[in-house]
Amino acid sequence: MLKPSPISPTVDFDRDGVQHGFLRLPYSRDDSAWGSVMIPICVVRNGEGPTALLTGANHGDEYEGPLALYELARTLKPDQVSGTVIIVPAMNHPAFRAGTRTSPIDKGNMNRSFPGRPDGTATEKIADYFQRELLPRADLVFDFHSGGRTLDFLPYCAAHILPDKAQEAKAFAAVEAFAAPYSMKMLEIDTVGMYDTAAEEMGKVFVTTELGGGGTARAETVRIARRGIANVLRHAGMLEGAVEKAETRWLDMPSDDCFTFAEDDGLFETMVDLGEDVREGMVIARIHSIGRTGVAPQEIRAKMSGLLVARHFPGLVKAGDCMCVLAQ
Ligand SMILES: [Zn+2]
Repeated sequence: MLKPSPISPTVDFDRDGVQHGFLRLPYSRDDSAWGSVMIPICVVRNGEGPTALLTGANHGDEYEGPLALYELARTLKPDQVSGTVIIVPAMNHPAFRAGTRTSPIDKGNMNRSFPGRPDGTATEKIADYFQRELLPRADLVFDFHSGGRTLDFLPYCAAHILPDKAQEAKAFAAVEAFAAPYSMKMLEIDTVGMYDTAAEEMGKVFVTTELGGGGTARAETVRIARRGIANVLRHAGMLEGAVEKAETRWLDMPSDDCFTFAEDDGLFETMVDLGEDVREGMVIARIHSIGRTGVAPQEIRAKMSGLLVARHFPGLVKAGDCMCVLAQ
């Protein structure tokens, strides 16, 4: 038997109305002997009905989600809602406070920490709380991501190809309702430990995004995030009002050929911008040697035709960095 979670919520998930509170995780440390990590949570409930679980800052340096969700928590009224909306704008709150992808406490990457452990690191304890307490309550799970400091994405909403086609169809219908400029049938590099996988294995409708990146947010991508999350709640029949339609272009990631990785350190030069078309074999990026002159750059060629949906963001790359992501 697993131990009970050390996290205690200051909100009651079964109470009607709006509650602003915390998930309190005890964390004893040098500057606070009996201290806690306080993860903000908002619950808006209006009677029986479905439950939506909305999260941002699963990675601490991705900002469209927190910008959309702190505002939603501030403005959502119970009489606009049917069912329960649980909002956690900054899931990995220690990482969010530090402005880093992973937690400064334990270097934990929230999206590689599931199912978590009640007796593990701080990040594993948060994951365990979502796994055993929050995910089981939810019908719809929406997790915002963006590129963070090291990647930049075309703005898209996404769901995964799933073995259960009824579950997959519900997720893609919610993606369509989000109405980002692009909608993605997504392939993951590494699904082990992901929140996505945990939710999908429980049979939940799981929807996510990649809305930009570079460790900041743009006006356009924040507008997309705010309109999109309201649309998804409306589509689910949980928020009053009609879905605000916008044109979306569906994209597919057919295989591992979507991804290219740097094989050397150096100065990164992208040869195409986000959204531009690419043909198989075309040079899409170059890595220039920075140690000396007179060395030819390493050429990165597209392994398939499609368009550029993500790129390495900082000007310098290291061997192993994801450089370009293509989709069709
Ligand atoms: Zn992320």
